[in-house]
This record gives sequence, structure tokens and C-alpha cells, in this order.
Amino acid sequence: MHTTQTCYGTRPSTGLDIAAPEEAWKLGTQLLMHVMRARRVPATGVSCGDSPCAECLAPHLARVVTAVARREPVSFVLPAFPGKSPNPSKVLGPMPDMAEQRSLEFLATLCERIQREYAPGARVILCSDGRVFNDIVGIRDVDITGYQHELSAMMARISTSSLATFNLDQVFEGLSFESMRERLMLEYGESLEALRNAVRAGGEPHRLYCGITRFLVEDATRPDGTASRSALQRECRRRAYEVIRRSQAWGRLLEAHFPQSVRLSIHPQTCGSEKLGIHMMETADSWLTPWHGVAVDMGGRFVLLKRIEAEALGARVVAREGRASHYELTGAS
Ligand SMILES: [Zn+2]
Repeated sequence: MHTTQTCYGTRPSTGLDIAAPEEAWKLGTQLLMHVMRARRVPATGVSCGDSPCAECLAPHLARVVTAVARREPVSFVLPAFPGKSPNPSKVLGPMPDMAEQRSLEFLATLCERIQREYAPGARVILCSDGRVFNDIVGIRDVDITGYQHELSAMMARISTSSLATFNLDQVFEGLSFESMRERLMLEYGESLEALRNAVRAGGEPHRLYCGITRFLVEDATRPDGTASRSALQRECRRRAYEVIRRSQAWGRLLEAHFPQSVRLSIHPQTCGSEKLGIHMMETADSWLTPWHGVAVDMGGRFVLLKRIEAEALGARVVAREGRASHYELTGAS
């Protein structure tokens, strides 16, 4: 993308379909910075960190400015909240808990911050991708359905109008879950060969492949497992390619459905990425998500950890409405 530098950021020369006044660029940059503060970047490698560079703003700014120039809410899409990891050493169970609740509250607060400076506000569309690949990662369809229902109930309790959900069930209504996934890949999928070549070339696709493989190996490693470590890793590498192919197809479907929305991601993203990686909760692990971990109350602040890590610290389970909700670590700060 060709860009021109201004005093408050980079202005993309393409991607904007209306003429926007200077004020719209200034306000758009200011609003985008609220999201940039929650940015999730790789633990290693090149990244501008706390103060985003012009290259980091460029892929997203035109969409924010377009919304501002039209006095419409700024729209974000976030493929996320698929369903809980099937590994009991990482999570408390298959249903959303305090980790999801804190994350939803964070997103609602982010929208409120934007609204304080821009009256039309912002909205985040949570594009649950569980149905897209649950058969590969070992989550049952019934658990995806339960998770989606409970997430919607949680959003109703938070009582925010800035969050909405979108999932595969809405796109291909009436089809079996298997047929939904087949249709997605038929219409938006790319070949395995193309993905293999991209991963082999290194960079972002290779980093994503390694991250997803690590998740799958972790989720499949059980005390009662019989497969050898090398057989498990081989199998997980094969499945990682399929998870990424499905996720990418879902991403293309979302781009077609929400062409004006800024694309958020729950994975770390490097400078200039088309996706803006964000954290919804404090965590030391740049890859950990609310559905791969548990919320731990460290005495006034919640931190995301794997269940096994919370228990190793001596944290105890707290129940809410008859269900395990999160951990509490007394004496922590
Ligand atoms: Zn940057």
C-alpha cells in the first residue's frame, strides 16, 4: 500500500471510498489508539511494542476514518470465543466462565472509551469460530452450541449494546454442522498445497503454524495417552494445517460479510499485519486465550493462566451460580 506521512499517522492512499476531512483522520487515529493499547504482539521478533508505528496503523485506519466521516459506529470483527479447550489441565470445563466474562467486559469498556470521544461509538462483532474447526480440535458440536448460548446469556447480563455475535450457524442455517463446514471450505477454502508453501516460506504463516501446533499438542497430551510423543506431534502438525485452512476460510467469509470492519485477532500480530492482535485480559503468555485458560483473582486484578499453573500456585476454585468460575490466590498482589 502506498502511504503518505502526516503529523498524526499514516494516511493510506487507497482503501478509502469517501473524501474524509482532516478532523476525521485525526479523530480516527485517536480512536484506533484505544485498541492499539491492548495490542498483542509476538514475544520475540520485530515489533514496535507500546508505541505503534505508522505501518501498524495503516491497514486499519482507512476503515475507522470512513466510519467517522459518515458518523457511523466504528465496527470491529473478532474471530474468537470458539469453545473451551478439551484439556482439563488448562480450563475448568466446557462452558464460558470468568475468563470469558472479564474479556467481554473489557471489550464493552473499550467501546465505551471510544464512545466518550465519538458519540456514534463502536461495536465489536464476536465471530465465534468454534463450529468452523471443532471436529479437528476435539470439541463436541454439542459443547460448541452450549458455549455459544451461555456466551450470549453472559453478554445479556453485562447489558451492553456494543457487542454482537456472528457464527457459522447463522450463515448456513438449516444445514447439518458437517455440511456447514463443507460449504465453508468449498466457497472460501484454499488448497493445502498453497498453505504448505506459505508456511515453508517462513514469517507470519510459519509463526501461526507453530503456535497452533503447540496448542494441539498441549490439548492432546493427557496422562492416560498411549500415543508416542513423536506420533502425537506428527498428527498435530497435520491437524494444524487443517485448523489454519478452516480459520483462513472463515476470515475470508468475514471479509465478504463485513468489508467495512477492522479485523481484530486473538493471536499475536507483527508490524503492518492486516489483522490487529489484541489482549482481552492480562497474561504473561502472548498466545494464551480465555478459552485455553482460567481467570485468577490475584487480589483486585484478574490474570489469565492455565488451570494447572493456577493450581501449582496454590490458588483455590471459586464457584458462581453452582459452577466453577475462576481461581483466587490469597496473599497475591
Ligand atoms: Zn509497528
